[in-house]
Amino acid sequence: MKPKNYFNLIRQGRLPGQLIIQLTDRCNATCPQCGMNIHEHFPRHSLTPDAVKRMIDAAAEQGIDAVSFTGGEPFMALDDLVPLMDYAGSAGITYIRTGTNGFLFRAPEKPGFADRVHRLAEKLAATPLRNFWISIDSADPATHERMRGFEGVIRGIERALPIFQAYGLYPSANLGINRNLEGPRAIPFLKPSGPDGKGVSPAIFRERLHSGFDRFFRFIANLGFSIANVCYPMSIDSDKDGDDLNAVYGATATSSIVSFSKREKAHLFDVLAKSVVENRSRLRIFTPLCSLHALHRQFQSGHRGYACRGGLDYFFVDAARGHTYPCGYRGEEDLGPFWNCSDVPAVNAGDCYACEWECFRDPSELGGPLRDLRHHPLGLMRQWKADAPFYRKWLKDLRYYRDCDFFDGRRPARPTRLKRYAKAHLMDN
Ligand code: SF4
Ligand code: SF4
Repeated sequence: MKPKNYFNLIRQGRLPGQLIIQLTDRCNATCPQCGMNIHEHFPRHSLTPDAVKRMIDAAAEQGIDAVSFTGGEPFMALDDLVPLMDYAGSAGITYIRTGTNGFLFRAPEKPGFADRVHRLAEKLAATPLRNFWISIDSADPATHERMRGFEGVIRGIERALPIFQAYGLYPSANLGINRNLEGPRAIPFLKPSGPDGKGVSPAIFRERLHSGFDRFFRFIANLGFSIANVCYPMSIDSDKDGDDLNAVYGATATSSIVSFSKREKAHLFDVLAKSVVENRSRLRIFTPLCSLHALHRQFQSGHRGYACRGGLDYFFVDAARGHTYPCGYRGEEDLGPFWNCSDVPAVNAGDCYACEWECFRDPSELGGPLRDLRHHPLGLMRQWKADAPFYRKWLKDLRYYRDCDFFDGRRPARPTRLKRYAKAHLMDN
């Protein structure tokens, strides 16, 4: 196992990398916003444990420090997933992540539910898993359960969370932004984005988004979550910018539930930032303000922040072929098996802004100033002067991340530290 040396990586112009491995594209949920839902007909695949181990070895060799096992539904492959997380830990990967749509938490009223969750928590706690997410789509339980197709699952998650916490696991709630965020009263279209050019004014659109995000954060905190993350809208075809993308990761769709126009996105990122600030004292919210600032500006004025590191430090491996891509959305760029792909530079690597996949865009924005500090200190000073709000938010993010123990899902939140952020929004503007 190679010793970690982040400074060396940054000196080479790189960031601590991340590899997202789609363990399987099988799924048992009905999410209308996703091309892998149970109703979609396409040949389903799962990676073999031996192939995944080879990828993990190559990742450790290349200094990649974060491996996420995604799906489909990774917990449908739990018997492979658990030993693979052990394997990644032994290979020296520090940040091991996975998540679930929550199907195991259905039917909490049935006998044996608590025993089943205890066994699962014990099994996961014995691995080096660091972060474990549970997807939640809406602040309204019935809406979430209808979208996922899992009746009663919210009550099951509520019962499961204290059990996980008793084993030292603090799952995060993962929100994929969608118009059902608040419940049956869907987020309206911003005029003229709606069908037939219909829609509401910017003020009403923002008010509804704000109320949706706020309700959502309060809802998950009341359920018992202490960490949250927000996945930006996954549609890539609502605007011209996404036309050259060909998603190899099926978690995208053309559904209007997850489609937002460029004008809507400009408001969305701005309103989300406001809501994140207001709720940082309630939850550990990973979503960085500097990234939301950059995305807001990108959609508002075309000003670009730090380019995405997909294909440079971050990669995606699909379940269908076990091949590597710069990300889940650049399916035209097949880099082959991960253990060979360090020789194949991705096209446009380091100059891509084509989507808002938070898994890659957020860490690219967070790590950009660190790389500049080492390689372009004068350029950094110039940029700081030109866009001081971005860098002020970046420093705030770093302080907040420290107070959140860098979102360590094996440690409880520290309420006294988070309380410092209770009034932050009043001073933020
Ligand atoms: S979003 Fe996740 S849980 Fe829902 S259908 Fe897609 S892969 Fe399955
Ligand atoms: S911005 Fe990043 S995640 Fe999106 S298409 Fe480009 S490389 Fe991929």
